[in-house]
Amino acid sequence: MNQYTNFYLPLCLKVEEDAFLRTDEIIAAYLPEIKGQKTIIISERFLIETYQDKLQELSKDFGGARIYEMGQADFDEAVSIAKMLCVQDYKIVIGFGGGRVLDTAKYAAYISKAVYICLPTTLSNDSLASPFSVLGTVGTSRKTLSCKIPAAIVVDTTMIGAAPESQTLSGIGDTIAKHTALFDWKIAAKHAGSHVDDFAYAISRMGFDSVYHCDDKDIKSKSFIRILSRALVMGGLAMEIAGSSRPCSGSEHLFCHALEEYHPKVRLSHGIGVALGSVGACIFQGRDERPLLSVLRTYGIDTNPASYGMTKDVFADAWLRASTTRPGRITILDQTKLDRSWLDEIYDRMVEF
Ligand SMILES: [Zn+2]
Repeated sequence: MNQYTNFYLPLCLKVEEDAFLRTDEIIAAYLPEIKGQKTIIISERFLIETYQDKLQELSKDFGGARIYEMGQADFDEAVSIAKMLCVQDYKIVIGFGGGRVLDTAKYAAYISKAVYICLPTTLSNDSLASPFSVLGTVGTSRKTLSCKIPAAIVVDTTMIGAAPESQTLSGIGDTIAKHTALFDWKIAAKHAGSHVDDFAYAISRMGFDSVYHCDDKDIKSKSFIRILSRALVMGGLAMEIAGSSRPCSGSEHLFCHALEEYHPKVRLSHGIGVALGSVGACIFQGRDERPLLSVLRTYGIDTNPASYGMTKDVFADAWLRASTTRPGRITILDQTKLDRSWLDEIYDRMVEF
C-alpha cells in the first residue's frame, strides 16, 4: 500500500492440478509466518463428508486444524463463528467450499482479524476473491457486506473439474454479466460527474474478455478452468481496487436480487440469474443482445427464462422492482422507462432465440 493506493491484493493465487494436496507447501512459501498458528477449516456437511480423507490430511498439514461444519450462510452464523475464533484464539481461517461457505468464512475471518485462505470447490461466482460477503439477514433478504479479500487463493483444477457443471456455468454467467455491469458503471460515473477507476475497469474487462472471447469452450478442460478461475479472481480484485462492487455488478445484478427477494420459487443460481439479467440490461442499454445470447448458448447456458420456471409475469415484475433492491445504485434502469409490453417482448425474444 502506498500514497496512491488504498487496497490489498492477495499474496498468493495458485491454480494447479491437485493443488489441494499441496496447500500447506503453497501457503508456507508465501506466508511462512503463519506456520504453527491455530487454524480452523470452515466447510459444510456435504463437503466434509465428500472430501473426508482429503480434509483430514489438510487438517494434519495445518497442525491438527479443527474442521468446523457451518450452518446457514447468514450474518448470525458468520458473527457467531467470528466470536468463537476470537475467544479460542484462531489465527488462520481456511474456507473450503462454494459461494455460501466462502462468504461466511471470509466474513468471520474479517471480523476476527484472522488470516483468510480461500479454497474453492466450485467456480460459481466472483465472490471468491472479492472484498464483499453476501449473507442472509432476515427471511429471504440478503445483504452485501464489506470485508477483506483473501490473503491466499488456491484453486485445485481437478476438484473444480469434478464439481457439478451447473456451478461452472454459474461462474461463466457471473463473468459474462460484466458486459452490462461495466456499461452501467460508466453511466453511474457520468451521472456523478466523475470517472470510473481505469485500472479496476481494465482488470474486470480483461476477466470478461478472457471468457467471452475464449476459443476453448470445453468447460471441463484444465485450460478453461484456469481461465475462468483467473477471470473470477480478477473480478474480485477489480472490486477491491474500485472499493465497490461496481466493476462487476450493474442492473443485471439488480434483476437477480429482485428474483431472489420477491420470487424465491424461481430456481436459478446467482450466475445464471445475472446472465439472464444481462440480456435485458443489454437491450435497455441500446446494444445488440444477440452476440451475448449466442456466447451464453455456446457455453451451454439455457437463456430461456421459462426453463427456470420464470413466467412472463415474474420476469416483468423482477425488472420493474429491480432498481428498488439497491436504492441509490445508478444504472441504465434510471434512464429507462420500462413498460409491460416491452418487457413481454424481451421475454419472447429470449424464449425464441
Ligand atoms: Zn455476481
